[in-house]
Amino acid sequence: MHCPFCQAEDTRVIDSRLVAEGDQVRRRRECLDCSERYTTYETAELVLPRVIKQNGNREPFDEAKMRAGFQRALEKRPVSVEDIEAVINHIKHALRATGEREVASIQVGELVMESLKQLDQVAYVRFASVYRSFQDIAEFRDEIERLEAEPGSE
Ligand SMILES: [Zn+2]
Repeated sequence: MHCPFCQAEDTRVIDSRLVAEGDQVRRRRECLDCSERYTTYETAELVLPRVIKQNGNREPFDEAKMRAGFQRALEKRPVSVEDIEAVINHIKHALRATGEREVASIQVGELVMESLKQLDQVAYVRFASVYRSFQDIAEFRDEIERLEAEPGSE
């Protein structure tokens, strides 16, 4: 791959090892031109079920979004990136194991909550309160939309 610093075409792998319980390969690379070093992570891309949002819309499972959510919830908590990667992998395994082509976003949310509970109690409580109020907001919004859609409401 191209060097992210100088865009040179040739980089050399100087170290390669398994991480995230063997589900990822971490590679240290060095640019042959500018000698900068950087890290890449390689993961198998397997098909995950699509996520059914509360409003009925379908969207692809978004791993980056989930990772960002975990990182936000675990900000300033004593949980390693490795542990976060492991639970994300665990959730993906669980989603594939359903054998479903589509899963409800609530179901994904529950898996996230369970994992967070195992990782860090404080982050779990913090996240759970936010998650619940978000659901309430969504319900509130749904209710407003339903009322607005009713004939004669204007
Ligand atoms: Zn370079």
